[in-house]
Amino acid sequence: MKVLKFGGTSVGSAERIGSIANLLPANEPCIVVLSAMAGTTNTLIEITNKAKSDNMHEAMEMIRTLENKYIATVKKLYQSQTYQNRGELFINDTFLQISRKVAGGLSEKGSREIIAFGEMISTALFQMYLTELGFKSAYIPALNFMRIDKDKEPDYFYIEENINRSIQSSPFVQIYITEGFICRNATGEIDNLGRGGSDYSAAIIGNVINANEVQIWTDIDGVHNNDPRYVENTSPLRHLSYDEAAELAYFGAKILHPSTIQPCRVKEIPVLLKNTLQPQDNGTLISVFRNPQGIKAIAAKDGITTINIQSSRMLLAYGFLNKVFEVFNQLQTAVDMITTSEVAISLTIDNADKLDEITKQISKFSNVTVSKNQTIICIVGDFEADKNGYAALVFDALKEIPIKMISYGGSSNNISISVDSQHKVKALNLLQKIVASRTATLNSELIAQPVNI
Ligand code: ADP
Ligand code: ASP
Ligand code: MG
Repeated sequence: MKVLKFGGTSVGSAERIGSIANLLPANEPCIVVLSAMAGTTNTLIEITNKAKSDNMHEAMEMIRTLENKYIATVKKLYQSQTYQNRGELFINDTFLQISRKVAGGLSEKGSREIIAFGEMISTALFQMYLTELGFKSAYIPALNFMRIDKDKEPDYFYIEENINRSIQSSPFVQIYITEGFICRNATGEIDNLGRGGSDYSAAIIGNVINANEVQIWTDIDGVHNNDPRYVENTSPLRHLSYDEAAELAYFGAKILHPSTIQPCRVKEIPVLLKNTLQPQDNGTLISVFRNPQGIKAIAAKDGITTINIQSSRMLLAYGFLNKVFEVFNQLQTAVDMITTSEVAISLTIDNADKLDEITKQISKFSNVTVSKNQTIICIVGDFEADKNGYAALVFDALKEIPIKMISYGGSSNNISISVDSQHKVKALNLLQKIVASRTATLNSELIAQPVNI
């Protein structure tokens, strides 16, 4: 069975929702995972923020505008009056629920419930659309099976049991439809997998049902060799290894939620990224096959905080690093990059919620300085043994950029540097010169030696 995830743009209008019905596999069952229509999650978050800051009038106005947008979509999406009426009733009823919840005052829990409506609406509309077309499909609500534990990790045992139960209760169906992004948490409340989390939903589902492929359908023809939002003339890569894709996703390539790769990698499930707007394009395959060496792609992750820790007496003495990392451990803050010298260590975090407490704790035994607004630029590829001077290429390209930190050698798939965020766009563009020519060669090497999955 295949899992197909369609992102916000892919369900972003009546026309787009209509066209994805043609992309479903003809001769095997599949699970379709849907995001909210593009813009909806942002709007729902804004509505909850307005409501929480006592701006109820604006919140209600936004609800009305969003409802009108969905009514217009329903009118275009369905052919028959019966389905248009049915769709309109569903939208009216859903938005009545949203308005009542918002008017009643929003807790954190209530806000999460509002945000979940985006995925629930697109999923219901798509299933109704398939039914109107005469396709047999079954809706399997994500809230009945997708669950995270108290550490916010997927509860794989629970998910597997419950999704299989849902699938088995509709045995003569080819198309199962569910929501991406939303889940229940350890206490059973409605929660979500974080922004962009529908990719992760698809990967988790692929893992528990042992899918033969997870397809991520989006608005671009696969993973590009650089970030197309900041660099012109980027081009798609035909293939990436799991490790390369995981580095890119973690270090900012928005096309994939940072956690998408791991659930597929552990079961060696191929992940195929495809463009809904141009389904004939090859897209990018992420899998475990022979992988040409070299630099493949560049990504950047903003919002990084660097913490510099100086201690002339204790550094490199036994237990110093242990003492530093114990603080991060206790305050449940992940560290991304680390560099060391005789007298200092620098490290980066992307979640600065506990920054004050972290600096307070470390200040007890070292001098601490903090730099905000940093960006990690990540150069991804296969640099086994640095045979071809890849690092030299990178640093030569970046000679005009003041580099703050360098990390190389942690894996053979990643060279990371950190810079002040103001230098990000220039750095990405300078690095484009070293990936641009290489991408065509990499893709042609693949064509010469066919993929074997
Ligand atoms: P979806 O709504 O389908 O999940 P996203 O907006 O989350 O789509 O991800 C697709 C977008 O990711 C692209 O439109 C592109 O702007 C951005 N992006 C960032 N880095 C890359 C990259 N390396 N390759 C392709 N797209 C990228
Ligand atoms: N709709 C959610 C978001 O905008 C999840 C997703 O699109 O993957 O973050
Ligand atoms: Mg996305």
